Amino acid sequence: MHRRMVLAGLGYAGLAGCAAAPATVQTPMRPVFQRRNFATLLTDPGRLSRITVCLRPFRAQGPRIEVEVAGDKRVVHNYGHGGSGWSLSWGSAAAARDLALEGGQRSVAVIGCGAIGLTTALQILRAGAQVTIYAAERTPYTRSARATGVWSPDSRIAAESAVSADFPARWEAMTRRSWVDHHAFVGLDGDPVRFVDQYNLRDPDGGAVGPEPTPGRVGFVNYGDRLRGLTPRSRALTAAEHPFPVASASVFPQMTFNVAEYARQLTEAFLMEGGRIVQRVFHHPSELAELAEPVVVNCTGYGARALFGDESVLPVRGQIAWLTPQPEVTYALWYRGISMIPRADGIVIQANGRNQMVGYGVDDETPDSAEAEQALAALATLFTTA
Ligand SMILES: Cc1cc2nc3c(=O)[nH]c(=O)nc-3n(C[C@H](O)[C@H](O)[C@H](O)COP(=O)(O)OP(=O)(O)OC[C@H]3O[C@@H](n4cnc5c(N)ncnc54)[C@H](O)[C@@H]3O)c2cc1C
Repeated sequence: MHRRMVLAGLGYAGLAGCAAAPATVQTPMRPVFQRRNFATLLTDPGRLSRITVCLRPFRAQGPRIEVEVAGDKRVVHNYGHGGSGWSLSWGSAAAARDLALEGGQRSVAVIGCGAIGLTTALQILRAGAQVTIYAAERTPYTRSARATGVWSPDSRIAAESAVSADFPARWEAMTRRSWVDHHAFVGLDGDPVRFVDQYNLRDPDGGAVGPEPTPGRVGFVNYGDRLRGLTPRSRALTAAEHPFPVASASVFPQMTFNVAEYARQLTEAFLMEGGRIVQRVFHHPSELAELAEPVVVNCTGYGARALFGDESVLPVRGQIAWLTPQPEVTYALWYRGISMIPRADGIVIQANGRNQMVGYGVDDETPDSAEAEQALAALATLFTTA
């Protein structure tokens, strides 16, 4: 074991055993943080169980949430959530629900069964309407099932130069709504949503690991400041508070989504509360006319590009490598652009590379094992014996 890991394990246990200082001695008040155990992450590539690839449905204008009238159908669009679909799902669903029901209709079709389709269908159902989901794929075959599973509400959600003036405020309202609604799943069986301490490790000697970015610059929005006070804060760590051989580190409680379990619980809730799911592929928008429902909510994600010919939806490729589960690993890492998230269904490793242009415009969903192994090799340096 790394020598500093042994020391780290002893740290505050020693302090806890000390006798209280005499009352006359004035010592400056300093918070005492709990020492924790850091189980070693097993980075042997032989533990890889699969590599999955998914495309973020990016729109420079931000997600399309608006009504279009097509023949006798009222079509409400709710797609294009970039790298933020799980995070924004509930807030975006609430906005789409209001548009779907504002005409007074009470029978609604939802196209799509990913993060956006499931949450939208549930919200409309709970508002008292009858809802049928029509989808080509359900969990675990949707792109949503291949997401990392962290709170990332402004990840590749829009481009600064293309958003409307009211977008930042609409985004903030969606985000705040989602933050609250995700909490309803914290502490439930299967931990669909849980907080995990994420250690952000900085090492000036190591560059970011991951694919080369696509040339050019999009200027993705960054709205972190709008959420100040909403989410838990990051705290800088002293070297004695963590075992990792890096120049500096900080920690914050990261909201994570156990995507497999979350999607299962959403699906079950929808079915138990009276919703219906029908497997169906649409090849052209004109096929919507065949549906009995007068209102159709389009939650097809990247699929909207082909189905509705919407070329404003661009792919941003992302890959995750799955190590077999290690229940004893209860912390997350961010190191040299690599994220490691411990989930019940596996340890999720993602090499994000130098910047957000990585994967931009790339629609190749072929797994790249060299990318995965490079990330594991970099993480392994955090756990080697001196
Ligand atoms: C590597 C990676 C990691 C990510 N990590 C995160 C994360 O940690 N947190 C986060 O918030 N977001 C993350 N994202 C983004 C997130 O995955 C997406 O924003 C989200 O999955 C979009 O959900 P969706 O429901 O719109 O689309 P999808 O999951 O693609 O669902 C679309 C649905 O529509 C159906 N459909 C499509 N076309 C048709 C058709 N023609 N006929 C019938 N049905 C159709 C599909 O079958 C499916 O059911 C990540 C993305 C990637 C690539």
